[in-house]
Amino acid sequence: MAIREIRKDGDPILRKICRPVENIDEKLITLLEDMAETMYKANGVGLAAPQVGILKRVVVIDVGEGLIELINPEIISSSGSQINQEGCLSIPGYYGNVERPFKLKVKALNREGETVTYKASGFLSVAMCHEIDHLDGILYKDKAVTLEMVGIEGEGTKE
Ligand code: ZN
Repeated sequence: MAIREIRKDGDPILRKICRPVENIDEKLITLLEDMAETMYKANGVGLAAPQVGILKRVVVIDVGEGLIELINPEIISSSGSQINQEGCLSIPGYYGNVERPFKLKVKALNREGETVTYKASGFLSVAMCHEIDHLDGILYKDKAVTLEMVGIEGEGTKE
């Protein structure tokens, strides 16, 4: 496993549409494992493949309930709404409020190539929407109703 470089806002790769995964091979498993390691190292709750420079429809999420790996995820239904504060490992130093569905049903492949359906609500729904948006080149700041800069540790810009 290896830590991969997280691409930052302004990098054109973050605005590209990702391709569906056709083969779950050794290279893809390595990508999933590197993405999880990179996400945990950065204290993130989710990471999408374009954030590490790979234009494939692959996402990892852990909102504190265990690691979820999504390959070719699709939102098949959604309901309700919620506004939550979001941040993004590709946009350090900012947070913004974004409206998202409260409940979500997501279909994806797992690493065995099996179709898995997830029912998400609350913060997991937020994380899934945020990461799936990355696969279509969408960043949360595009949808945010507010965007605030916060202090970055070590830069003396707190508050
Ligand atoms: Zn993000």
